[in-house]
Amino acid sequence: MSRKGDADNSSIYSLADDKLKPDYKNFVVCPYDKHHVVLACRLATHLVKCSANHPGNRMVRCPFNSTHVLQASFLSTHVLTCPNLKDLMHFTNKETFRSPDQMAGRVEYIYCQENWNDEPETKVYDPQEHCSKNILLRSLVGGTPSQRKEFRETERKKFKELMECNEL
Ligand SMILES: [Zn+2]
Ligand SMILES: [Zn+2]
Repeated sequence: MSRKGDADNSSIYSLADDKLKPDYKNFVVCPYDKHHVVLACRLATHLVKCSANHPGNRMVRCPFNSTHVLQASFLSTHVLTCPNLKDLMHFTNKETFRSPDQMAGRVEYIYCQENWNDEPETKVYDPQEHCSKNILLRSLVGGTPSQRKEFRETERKKFKELMECNEL
């Protein structure tokens, strides 16, 4: 009976939409606790927390990949077969890894006729000049009431003159 039940369950499962099934290949088992199954991309973060919960453990980290946590006795065997070892070999191999000097020799230079130093000098913005030439009403900050009144009169006169100039 139970065998039949199992068979039925598996057939139901195989009929299920693939999208609904968890993608097991993206999950890994935590080296500190086999009951911890975490997403491979989250393993590094998980190991930081989990190692704190397992003080006194005799686990060591692989020098090529910090997510490879294993028993100290297995480390010497692991480093020889670690998949990340070949990445290191790639960078230490003179055949495949070029020094920065060699890379520099391969740069293609693009020659440009334009000389940016020949560009006309950009005029420096002078707020005083800008205000006196343009229609702007300023107000005096600070000063005595009579000074402010005088300033207002001058501004009004200038504004009137500028308006007349613009009308011509
Ligand atoms: Zn864990
Ligand atoms: Zn490793």
